[in-house]
Amino acid sequence: MASKKRWDTIYDKSNPFSLPQDIARQVRCLAREHDNGADPERMQYLWIYVSPVESEFSRGDVPNDRTLAADEWLSILDESAALGTECVVISAGQGLDNHPEILAMCSWAQETHGMLVGLHVYHQPLTEGEIKKLAALDQDLFGLFVDADLADEMAVPRELGIRVYTADCDGRQTMTGNCTIPEGMTCVGPTGKMYACGYVYGNKKYAMGHCFEKELGAVMSDEHIPRMIPRGDAGAQRRCNGCPPLMKRILQDAVTEGRVSAFNRNGKDK
Ligand code: SF4
Repeated sequence: MASKKRWDTIYDKSNPFSLPQDIARQVRCLAREHDNGADPERMQYLWIYVSPVESEFSRGDVPNDRTLAADEWLSILDESAALGTECVVISAGQGLDNHPEILAMCSWAQETHGMLVGLHVYHQPLTEGEIKKLAALDQDLFGLFVDADLADEMAVPRELGIRVYTADCDGRQTMTGNCTIPEGMTCVGPTGKMYACGYVYGNKKYAMGHCFEKELGAVMSDEHIPRMIPRGDAGAQRRCNGCPPLMKRILQDAVTEGRVSAFNRNGKDK
């Protein structure tokens, strides 16, 4: 259950998300009832894009549809938790000040569901003030992943205790064969459209519908949705940056090797 103390740490006013939280709790209960004893471990990872994806930025092709509101994102987190998800990565290309819902999503995922949360930053570096806000999150359940091309523009003071890593992973290296990670993952974009993963985001072949029309449980059990990505289907310009299982592995390897933070004040790998 979310702790009021934690909310107080993050927000200086009364919790602005109390109503969405109540709604989200009810959605979670309904999702559990819906499971009706079925195997709850159908989904392991949730990948969220709150900003246009990398390829949309590079094409200047920003979607006109309305973006999801904070309470809608919290409901998606609840639904995915009810299906067994323990790790979420939020990919953000426009900073926290443009997306104040991100902190609420991170905190909700950690406090309510005990999820490991990754924030993947691409396109626009976080400002000093935005980085400081991240220090209020539970650092035991948090990792910051930054695209390598932003490293020189984003310094994270060590004293904040934030674990920071390079997000870059080339899909063609990752996918030595066909990638089957999407069997346990859904990627939801800023307007609620769902795809198998960020690598094939926007490719109609891997479209999973819209979150307003389809519950995640129905998406995960839909056998008509392709869950395997052949190596050849990976767009040449897109990489696997931010992919939740890969980010989780980067974090776990760093912890195992005793690397508390992979960035220094200059934003370089240690
Ligand atoms: S981002 Fe890459 S590694 Fe992750 S599911 Fe997609 S293809 Fe596989």
